[in-house]
Amino acid sequence: MGTKGRAIVGKHAERVIELLNKAFSDEWLAYYQYWIGAKIVAGPMKDAVIAELMQHAADELRHADMVSNRIIQLGGTPVTTPKKWFELTNCGYDEPADPYVKKILEQNISGEQCAIGVYHAVMEEVSSIDPVTYNLALQILQDEVEHEEDLQALQEDLDLMLSRPA
Ligand code: FE
Ligand code: FE
Ligand code: MG
Repeated sequence: MGTKGRAIVGKHAERVIELLNKAFSDEWLAYYQYWIGAKIVAGPMKDAVIAELMQHAADELRHADMVSNRIIQLGGTPVTTPKKWFELTNCGYDEPADPYVKKILEQNISGEQCAIGVYHAVMEEVSSIDPVTYNLALQILQDEVEHEEDLQALQEDLDLMLSRPA
């Protein structure tokens, strides 16, 4: 860990690490929810939806990587067991028990809306104490905003198609 880099966060490091481990748990759960959703999704526009879900899964895994690097920079340890993801998560895990495309989209849109709220709250909390984490949360927030928009655009296309049978 870089000593000066950590010194500027000072006594707040522990709290920032806690916020980051919660976000880290969210990212892994989001990754898996997208990944398994892409495997099982069924219904109209399936191929377009699978492509988007797989892209988002890759983004969530990249977010987990980004967040874990910041935890380590601050002298913390990223959560070392999946069991803890369920204790720390903000947004939880929404099992895709129904593979119908509309249902999967709905679940993942809710997940993105939760993630947007989480990163927005992280930015507010760290804005005056940790500019590096602030910037990290901003980068991830930009992706989550894009994810929500991608999924809602698919949902709109699907609704249009379903309301106008050929
Ligand atoms: Fe993410
Ligand atoms: Fe996302
Ligand atoms: Mg996308």
